[in-house]
Amino acid sequence: MRAHEHRGKVADYIPALAAVPDSKFGIAVVLHDGTVHTAGHAEEPFSIQSISKVFALTLALGAVGDQLWQRVGREPSGSAFNSIVQLETEHGIPRNPFINAGAIVVCDVLLGRLQPREAIGQMLRFVRMVAGDESIAIDEAVASAEQDTGFRNMALANYMRAFGNVHAPVELVLGTYFHFCALAMSCRQLAMAGRYLMDGGRSDGHSVISPRRARRINALMMSCGHYDNSGDFAYRTGLPGKSGVGGGILAVAPGIASIAVWSPGLNPSGNSHLGQIALERLVQRTGWSVFEPR
Ligand code: GLN
Repeated sequence: MRAHEHRGKVADYIPALAAVPDSKFGIAVVLHDGTVHTAGHAEEPFSIQSISKVFALTLALGAVGDQLWQRVGREPSGSAFNSIVQLETEHGIPRNPFINAGAIVVCDVLLGRLQPREAIGQMLRFVRMVAGDESIAIDEAVASAEQDTGFRNMALANYMRAFGNVHAPVELVLGTYFHFCALAMSCRQLAMAGRYLMDGGRSDGHSVISPRRARRINALMMSCGHYDNSGDFAYRTGLPGKSGVGGGILAVAPGIASIAVWSPGLNPSGNSHLGQIALERLVQRTGWSVFEPR
């Protein structure tokens, strides 16, 4: 067996994720002109998990702008997605918004102005709007299982609260965070949702965010979107991308395509093993890396 034929290991920390067969594979590519190409299980919703951190960041920047950066950094962590180690020396300021600690702070920022129910509603409206699909929903069974098993996330949130970097009650912040993680989307819906990052902040002819903000979010996805595996993902694909433990990856070829892949088997860093290989091969064949001279 060649190394890449191994499918990786499906997340098993909650039953709803453990039950997903590792034989699933889907891909959807939305081109700049709106053409959509799909293959495999591209219409089947899966748990987007940490990919929601991109949408949460977009909402928090919309709410407080660059003030967000007083509470979360913009550097790759080089540590696991759920690591607590850097929080001690860095005074409760997470390295970036795409690790769990960072996304928990992002949720807390949203709760500075909204009740949890409103923040969750805002998130749902946002993803439905950018995807152009009202059927997108949150899987409540996943959200409550996350809540029942999320001891590390509770530790992260409480630790940051001790440093004064989480303000709202920890249960409310985590309830919001877990609902974001529990968004269920298909590859097609996710690739559609990523259009605003592909097209300088525009989706379907509407401005969602400014071109500068879209560029910056892409930069963070490139440098921090795959945890301690971010450098390798950038090296292999040359694309901004964000993974989740449900096995999804949203990747962006600015000006060219928004791409979603899904294969639930994960590598040791918690990123889709076959998803990364699929993106690497797609880029090799198309030259869509952002580092390709044009
Ligand atoms: N729900 C997961 C967690 O909080 C999300 C992590 C991930 O997708 N990497 O642990």
